[in-house]
Amino acid sequence: MTQEELFKKLIAHCKEYGFIFPSSEIYDGLSAVYDYGQMGVELKNNIKKYWWEAMVRLNENIVGIDAAIFMHPRVWEASGHVGAFNDPLIDNKDSKKRYRADVLIEDWLAKQDEKIEKEVAKARKRFGENFDEALFRETNGRIGEIKAKRDEANHRMVQALTDNDLAALKQLIEDLEIVCPISGTKNWTDVRQFNLMFETKIGSVSEGAGTIYLRPETAQGIFVNFLNVQKSGRMKIPFGIAQIGKAFRNEIVARQFIFRMREFEQMEMQFFVRPGQEMEWFKHWKEYRMRWHRALGFGDNMYRFHDHEKLAHYANAATDIEFNFPFGFKEVEGIHSRTDFDLGNHAKFSGRKIQYFDPETNESYTPYVIETSIGVDRMVLQVLSAAYQEEQLENDSRVVLRIPAPLAPVKVAVLPLVKKDGLPEMAKEIVDMLKFDYNVTSDEKDSIGKRYRRNDAIGTPLCVTVDHQSLEDRTVTVRHRDTMEQQRVKIDELPSIVEQVTGMKSLFKNILK
Ligand code: ATP
Repeated sequence: MTQEELFKKLIAHCKEYGFIFPSSEIYDGLSAVYDYGQMGVELKNNIKKYWWEAMVRLNENIVGIDAAIFMHPRVWEASGHVGAFNDPLIDNKDSKKRYRADVLIEDWLAKQDEKIEKEVAKARKRFGENFDEALFRETNGRIGEIKAKRDEANHRMVQALTDNDLAALKQLIEDLEIVCPISGTKNWTDVRQFNLMFETKIGSVSEGAGTIYLRPETAQGIFVNFLNVQKSGRMKIPFGIAQIGKAFRNEIVARQFIFRMREFEQMEMQFFVRPGQEMEWFKHWKEYRMRWHRALGFGDNMYRFHDHEKLAHYANAATDIEFNFPFGFKEVEGIHSRTDFDLGNHAKFSGRKIQYFDPETNESYTPYVIETSIGVDRMVLQVLSAAYQEEQLENDSRVVLRIPAPLAPVKVAVLPLVKKDGLPEMAKEIVDMLKFDYNVTSDEKDSIGKRYRRNDAIGTPLCVTVDHQSLEDRTVTVRHRDTMEQQRVKIDELPSIVEQVTGMKSLFKNILK
């Protein structure tokens, strides 16, 4: 199965099992907007809990807030979004499809990297054990040629984006002979800028309504509350403010399911530090956030850092954590050293003094900021695409979502073997015992095998089967999703087994290691 086929199957699976639906589907959907169903919302809530507790609860110097989506319009002037939150877009005249010019070029760059990896893989096969990969990469003529072309194109793209030179971007697309993936032609329009913020009106029109924006990121809600939180919480630098909330971007190219949406959710943390100490903290948060991802156990090779060459107007260092999605390595999280840009600009635009008096150095200054910013929805996609597996069993096959147990929507399914003889009542007793702490379901329909498959398909880590023996000795069978192993245990032991398998503690320990 190709990665593309796998991705299509995953999307269909998400719909069939109540994870993700297209928005307003009975009206044919709304492009790049999705709804989370009964399973999806549980997964999403668990991801948010994992993030919140790893950031706010495990770090004594981080607190959380929940700011409004609507903000004073001047906020977005101060942040630079009104002037510069633009994407360069280009249209193909034949297919009438619209693309982000930088994404077209990045896709071309990724293709060159693939070509290099193919050369290396071929050589590895040819030379076997004696293969010196590093030497081959350095000396092979064909690789050298591809790499030189790639690096030159990358350099030109970074330069054009830095200079905001749209003509140079178009020239680069022409020089690289990039074709439209739909029409296959090079019939491109000029590159234009497009602002990504959604506008709306506040107040009634008769009162003279004002234009406001739906926030394109949650970060600004933190910056404008810096003084409120610092003073009311008597926070001492270094400290952080975290927030989870919706953000909106009028993305030009909506692609890849919930990877790029117009309405999405972010989990952001701004960490305020003494100027001059930002690089130390940048390194700290890079490592901490990578450990948070890796603790999920999808494999360390599924992640990589991508350091930015073109820095945003506010940053003095930036990196992305990329995950190996079915469509390649792509950003799930950004970690940025934002200097004093945001607080400094809000001070300028609001006329307020936004500074911190440092009792250790006896001076006032504008703190520097390290930001960690991750999309909830991209995290959902990461978990689902890593978890989805089709397995051939001895006499059967199954689709199983190997979702890390602490994130699984349903933790335990309690299954009475038959619908009589007091077994459903006993199942209910078990559900009632566990439901205060865990999301537990009970399922009585169909054969036990079919019920196991249904639970595999939604990623339930534990199934508890109640049979006639249970009535006699108060024992049940616990069946584990990943190994399909079964064990006979006492009902009284269930709470500790469920905690051991599905508790978040094991993940947290791996982050703090
Ligand atoms: P991209 O380059 O993919 O457009 P970005 O660099 O603009 O992303 P940031 O502004 O750094 O993204 O936002 C932080 C995080 O928010 C991203 O790492 C991503 O997980 C998430 N995010 C951003 N835009 C979207 C979107 N349109 N849909 C879903 N998640 C998004």
